[in-house]
Amino acid sequence: MTRTEKLLAELIALPSVNPAFAPPDGASARPARSLYGEKNVADFLAAAAAAAGLEVEFQTVLPGRANVIARLLPKNKIQQTVLLAPHLDTVGADDSQFVPRRKNGRLHGRGACDTKGSVAAMLTALCELAASKSRPLATEIAFAGLIDEEQAQAGSRTLAAGGFQADLAIVGEPTHLQAVTAHKGSLWLRMETHGLAAHGATPQLGKNAVLEMARVVEVLETGYAMQLRRRKHKLLGTATVNVGKISGGAQPNIVPDYCTIEIDRRTLPGETENSVRRELAALLAEKKLCAKISSAKLAPALPLETDPKLPLVRQFFRSLGQTRPAGVDYFCDAAVLSAAGIPSVVFGPGGIAQAHTADEWISLAQLERAKGLLLNFLKSLS
Ligand SMILES: [Zn+2]
Repeated sequence: MTRTEKLLAELIALPSVNPAFAPPDGASARPARSLYGEKNVADFLAAAAAAAGLEVEFQTVLPGRANVIARLLPKNKIQQTVLLAPHLDTVGADDSQFVPRRKNGRLHGRGACDTKGSVAAMLTALCELAASKSRPLATEIAFAGLIDEEQAQAGSRTLAAGGFQADLAIVGEPTHLQAVTAHKGSLWLRMETHGLAAHGATPQLGKNAVLEMARVVEVLETGYAMQLRRRKHKLLGTATVNVGKISGGAQPNIVPDYCTIEIDRRTLPGETENSVRRELAALLAEKKLCAKISSAKLAPALPLETDPKLPLVRQFFRSLGQTRPAGVDYFCDAAVLSAAGIPSVVFGPGGIAQAHTADEWISLAQLERAKGLLLNFLKSLS
């Protein structure tokens, strides 16, 4: 068993489900075993990093929840910083997924690819670099195990807000070892229609908010969706819209005076919440529909677009043997760090198709290759 695989197996056996996915108090028969929160994993990684001679600190983000940051300082004055940034939290799972299982060259378990595989590859590469003679002389390498990526990205937002700066961040997500420079943003909007309540026996005296919303949904899912399909990005394809939730009305014999929907609008680089809200308002006005639009997410989930020509990004591409940039559909911490001025790419072992599934797994060959590629890149730094 390689050092990377051993570390990944240990991480899978330490559950770190995002507390946002915990059942409400008292709703679970489960004993208070700590399935939830990143603390056990963060403590474990801190000890491993300290044992390898790295400088370790915790950055408290939320009560009982901290990013763990480990640094390898160069011998000379720091000229640049490269950040390795996977996340420590996972989505929920049944108990069997917290027992790592090796089968046919794969390691199964919650977090195997999203993103404890990246954690294991990145930290092992950094520990091996610390023990190697060919260390960068003027580049600081930092590892940040971030909390809360799966819910509100509080970990990366706090790291960025704390003024952390780097010349390149490699954000760990399962990309099958491709360096990704672009992803879509995810904008959640709420729309409300208002009508006039009346007795169900005399509907002509009321105004039906559900009917108005049905027309809004029709416009969004047909004309608007078609308009978005014409808006293309060369790495990301098209912007999309999904009406994911609807609720309205109280009972059959009352004309509903209120209806609300929530939509997920996947944005392309260049699109902002304001630009999307403006185009939706214009579209509704044109169709003579009336709906109030508001935000349905606490924190913005922006699109990512990093210039592949930046020197460190090019160096990473060269080191991977990758000739052109790639894009992915899903949002991650990279956009948060990028918005704070840290050029960010996404890279990690495993495939997003296995993430969040009932049987998450990672290819052990790819896991080991990730560690090797990262170590080579880190060794190539000045
Ligand atoms: Zn995920």
